[in-house]
Amino acid sequence: MKTIARLSAALLACSLSAAAGSDAALEAALESITAENVSADIHFIASDALAGRDTPSEGLVVAARFVRSRLQRLGIEPGAEDGYFHRYPLMRLGLDAERTRLVGSAPEAAVELSPGSDYWFRSNYLREDVDTGGGVVFAGAGSEEEIEACELEGDWAVVFDDGSTDSRLRRRVRKAGGVGVVLIPTADFDGEGYAERYGPGLASFVEGRVSYPSERGASSRRMSLFPQLALTRSAGLRLLALAAGRPADVRVEDWTPAVGAELGLSLADERRVLRDDESVQMENVCGFWPGSDPELSREVLIVSAHYDHVGARDGKIWNGADDNGSGTTGLLQIAEALSRYGPMRRSVLLIWVSGEEKGLWGSRAWSDAPWLPEGCRPVANLNIDMIGRNAPDELYITPSADHEQHNGIVKLAQRLAPLEGFPALESADDYYHRSDQAMFARMGIPVAFLFAGIHEDYHKPTDTPEKIDCDKLRRVARLIVRLLDGLQTDSLEF
Ligand SMILES: [Zn+2]
Repeated sequence: MKTIARLSAALLACSLSAAAGSDAALEAALESITAENVSADIHFIASDALAGRDTPSEGLVVAARFVRSRLQRLGIEPGAEDGYFHRYPLMRLGLDAERTRLVGSAPEAAVELSPGSDYWFRSNYLREDVDTGGGVVFAGAGSEEEIEACELEGDWAVVFDDGSTDSRLRRRVRKAGGVGVVLIPTADFDGEGYAERYGPGLASFVEGRVSYPSERGASSRRMSLFPQLALTRSAGLRLLALAAGRPADVRVEDWTPAVGAELGLSLADERRVLRDDESVQMENVCGFWPGSDPELSREVLIVSAHYDHVGARDGKIWNGADDNGSGTTGLLQIAEALSRYGPMRRSVLLIWVSGEEKGLWGSRAWSDAPWLPEGCRPVANLNIDMIGRNAPDELYITPSADHEQHNGIVKLAQRLAPLEGFPALESADDYYHRSDQAMFARMGIPVAFLFAGIHEDYHKPTDTPEKIDCDKLRRVARLIVRLLDGLQTDSLEF
């Protein structure tokens, strides 16, 4: 979008709303926000039809188009480089189960085992193909003394697991120079079954999952990637049947090799990962309301809310009515109020971000590569998340006076809050890093986060729209409009 287009739209809006910037403009804007409109919007955004708005999901795509449609109808301009959607890629990873296998080889024979039926492993942090090979040493039950008694350099440690192996086993084997752990359950295994413990995670990895491309550094993955293979008992016995050293008169199921024995076979753990960096594109929805002042319009006030939630599982939908259907809805009302107000002196970017629940992905993507119309720069962020529950006069804000990022927006909010039925805004400093304002703050701009508190339905399928206090939500949206109106002075004092 070019500056010229932006100014002409501002002039047009100006002529339509002659009262822009006046008390009458503010009144008209505030009056446009009604509990009925709030109720209508939140019953759609948090409806079962959107299936919990997971990132990524069809429901989220529909929500984004609903928001875009509203912006278009209200005459709010597109706020992203090529329209209303700011897009960012997610990395999609999955296990290629067909080409992933565990091969045990002896001089005369070999066995090939399949993931998910013969063995399991944890796939968290698996990002690329893994090939781990080595000889095989029997390490008893994997106790500290037993591991110390083994020559493990470059070898796998095979451990008989009766259900009591401890969580430090992998570290011990790694420290001893081993390449990985192979767990074989004993006949009297008495613990949580491997299929139950590792099956769901591996199955979901076979299906594929998405993550933010730069998520987590390599260092945190090193130990997590150290292999531990959990075999079925029958797969373990097939492997042991290949091993050397078993007395001829002992059946393989009755055999316990000596601790430290080299089993005369090699084991190759081949994992193939399908990685796609391109095809999953997420959307933040951006609406731009150009300012009217030739200079101040270059300064952009960002108002944000995440529109995603955590989706559905076990046949239940997590509607996320308060988290964050409430903020999503509030921002829609703010868009409508701005259209009634007419242009403010400064410009406003309304941004509905996705991926918040997964780790602030949408706001991270935007703040990593911010896009605003030419010549514009962000000067502040107001973020709303969970604003529709708890006592009608209960509202929190961060950074409070006790916080080092305390700023003029928060002071202004404290002054304006009583006008909307919130006598005092208590501190939400514990949540300073827990919603999208944390990402906008990284850009070096002052932020304010408004939030109405946690409740018993937080992150449960019971966070449903009929529990939302639509009048309270209305008043929080009005407070944001008052704040925007108050942030139009010649110079902003933060
Ligand atoms: Zn939230």
